[in-house]
Amino acid sequence: MSPFACATAVSLLLVSGCAAVPAPTSPGPAAPSPAAGDIVQAGTPGLRTRAAEVPRERIATPELQALFARMIDTMRRAPGVGLAGPQIGVPWRVIVLEDRAELMARATPEEVAERGRVAFGPRVFVNPVLRLVGEERASFFEGCLSVRGYVGVVARHLEVEVSGLDEHGVEQVWRVRGWPARILQHEVDHLDGTLYVDRMLTRSFANADLARALYGGKPAAEILRLLGP
Ligand SMILES: [Zn+2]
Repeated sequence: MSPFACATAVSLLLVSGCAAVPAPTSPGPAAPSPAAGDIVQAGTPGLRTRAAEVPRERIATPELQALFARMIDTMRRAPGVGLAGPQIGVPWRVIVLEDRAELMARATPEEVAERGRVAFGPRVFVNPVLRLVGEERASFFEGCLSVRGYVGVVARHLEVEVSGLDEHGVEQVWRVRGWPARILQHEVDHLDGTLYVDRMLTRSFANADLARALYGGKPAAEILRLLGP
């Protein structure tokens, strides 16, 4: 198993779980968050490597069951709304995702509505295959625990259909719109070694605190206007 471990999460600008935390070996007085030691940052080769398919017969093994539990636990503690396997040191095609009311409560009702956020999960997808549905796209700020402290605007499809296996090895299909669709696109990208910075509107790249101060609570159309052409 790879010696690195990491977690990542899509996060709404105001729900960013990207708070800076000291490295596990930091001698500083501040204690790292429980998940800090599990999160690797951009620049780690494992974040740029295509993950491998999980053999179906391995899903029921204690090793894989423990992996799923660890991923969900790490995602929740970060906190984040999604996590990809390669980012906790396992280069396999596994993602978990979940959105919770307590995370959505950090955003305004208008932001929750505009993004199509709904509470769901936790859900596990093994060997997920994503299909983009329709042509509708939306642009919002995203963050990633592997690009800690920053956010950027990414245009993504509004609706997707994901198929794959669940944590029991059972085939599942989920067609979804809004924020869960964005999370799925972000996390499946991780399995292919792609980060949101590869897809973002580059001029939108910003320190998360500054972006929150400048754009928090503003409608997406106004944010894009403020960012300029
Ligand atoms: Zn990420």
